[in-house]
This record gives sequence, structure tokens and C-alpha cells, in this order.
Amino acid sequence: MKQVTLPGGERVPALGMGTWNIGDHRHTRAEEIATLQLGLDLGLRLIDTAEMYGEGLSESLIGEAIKGRRDEAFLVSKVYPHNASRKGAVAACERSLRRLGTDRIDLYLLHWRGDVPFEETMEAFMALRQAGKIRHFGVSNLGLADMDELWEVPGGDEVAANQLLYNLSRRGIEFDLLPWLRERDVPVMAYSPIEQGRLLRNPGLQHLAQSIGSSPAQVALAWLLSRDDVIAIPKTGNRERLRENFAALDLVLTAEQLAALDKLFPPPRHAQPLSML
Ligand code: NAP
Repeated sequence: MKQVTLPGGERVPALGMGTWNIGDHRHTRAEEIATLQLGLDLGLRLIDTAEMYGEGLSESLIGEAIKGRRDEAFLVSKVYPHNASRKGAVAACERSLRRLGTDRIDLYLLHWRGDVPFEETMEAFMALRQAGKIRHFGVSNLGLADMDELWEVPGGDEVAANQLLYNLSRRGIEFDLLPWLRERDVPVMAYSPIEQGRLLRNPGLQHLAQSIGSSPAQVALAWLLSRDDVIAIPKTGNRERLRENFAALDLVLTAEQLAALDKLFPPPRHAQPLSML
């Protein structure tokens, strides 16, 4: 399976599993758990969550799904900005660990920038890492100016990822932020890689996918997977769609197909404000 190298050399699958809205409803719970377990069976080890998702419901469901097979998963969770203080981040992390039913989170992210100074958050993250409660730390939704600032703070240049909105219809980061991260070997975790499903209704993408004999989701994911340092984390609570998304790993887009996608979804020609969902 295609892997992405984190700073420090650890390798993680380039295709992971998102879990926003997973665990919110009783009637979908069994299928959601079965989907995450199927993902692990297939080797999609990276599971992305956050304390925010269902205010802990997503983390609890993941805890249930990985019971007895914790070592097969690479768990990513995120702290709310208002909890990202020296003490608050430690307490939030401990709550996440309890819900996930584990003693460590593999990658712990600041969900977005809030009022707590970066110094404090990095201090908390380094203390958590020292205590073995997290293995790596990183950030999410930080733009170029934020990253410049973070880099100057102790620990700031040790972030293992920046999780960002990135898909065919949201290419703004390619202009400046992606090259900046690339220069520093910081991988991007592309969230909402199919734009929460909306991208799949694009007629041009549908047409191209049909001509390749793939689905629009597979083409959108394969496009992200064609980059060396991008981890895509589509969310699905359905085993059939998980298998469909998994097959994107086998789809290698040709130069002509990539050029056709550039025509449909042109790369940015100037700096753009960071998009978030
Ligand atoms: P997404 O992965 O782009 O899309 C998810 C939606 O698409 C769901 O409604 C899902 O429905 C549907 N879907 C998935 N595969 C499909 C397929 N093959 N065909 C048709 N529909 C499909 O959006 P997302 O959930 O916003 O983003 C992914 C993950 O990124 C999140 O779950 C979360 O872990 C993370 N995220 C992070 C941030 C951040 O601020 N850091 C923000 C947003 C998201 P079904 O479940 O019914 O299949």
C-alpha cells in the first residue's frame, strides 16, 4: 500500500479513514464499526478523529471498533483550540485516551488556531509526548502566516503534519502553503477529500471517471494519492463505499488524465485565503 513518510521516518498509509459524524446515531453504529474494522482488515490503519466529533461519540465508537486490535491502528485525534492550553491539552488528551480505550494517541493535532498562544500548546504537546501519551503532534487548519509563526516557537518545527481542506475543488494550498510544507518535509493530511460528497456530482469528473471505468470518488482520491506527501482521509460509514474508496489505491492516473483534471479544476494562480470546513 502507498505510504507517506512522517518527519522522523515513520511510515503511514497514504489512505486513512475519517470519522466526522461517525458514532452520532444508534441505528448506524453497527455498520460504522464494521466499516472501520474492514478498513483495518484491508490495512487502512490510519483513523482520524477529534474530541469535537459528536463531543466524544466518534472517539468512543473507534474505541469499540479497535478493541483487541489497538496495535493495528494509527490513531489521530485533535484537541479543541480552547482546550489547547498547558493544562487543558493534557486533560483533553486524557479524556480522549479514555474514550479511545488506549494509553496513547499516535498523532495529536491542534484542531485550528484559537486564543491560546502556540508556545503553550507546543509545551503541552511536548510534555504529552514525553509522558508517552502521544507519539507525534501536529496541527490542522494553519495557513502560511500561522506556520511561519509556529516554526519559531520551541517544538513548532517538530510538527508531523498539517491537516488541511484539500481536494480537486479546493486547490488553494498548492500556491504557497503546500510548497512551504514540502520544503520542510511536513506531510499534508487532506480532509474532506471528496468535498463531503459534493465533488462527486461534478459532471466533468463524472465523465472522466466513466471514461476510465472508475467512480468519481476513486478519481478524486487517486488524484490526491498521486502526490507523495499527502494523506487522504475520506469518511464513510459504509463497507461498500469503503471498498470503493480503497480501490483508489490501485488507480494510477496517467499524465493525460491528470492534465484533464487540471483543466476541470485549475490549480491556483495566486495566493488564496486558507479554506476550512
Ligand atoms: P469527505 O470524506 O470528503 O466526505 C464524506 C461524505 O462522503 C460522507 O457523507 C460519506 O457518506 C460520503 N462518501 C464517502 N465515500 C463515498 C463514495 N465512495 N461515494 C459516495 N459517497 C461517499 O468529508 P469529511 O467527512 O468532511 O472529511 C473526511 C474526514 O476529514 C472527516 O471525517 C474528518 O475525520 C476529517 N476532517 C477534518 C477537519 C479539520 O478541521 N481538521 C474538517 C473536516 C473533516 P457515507 O458515510 O454514507 O459513505
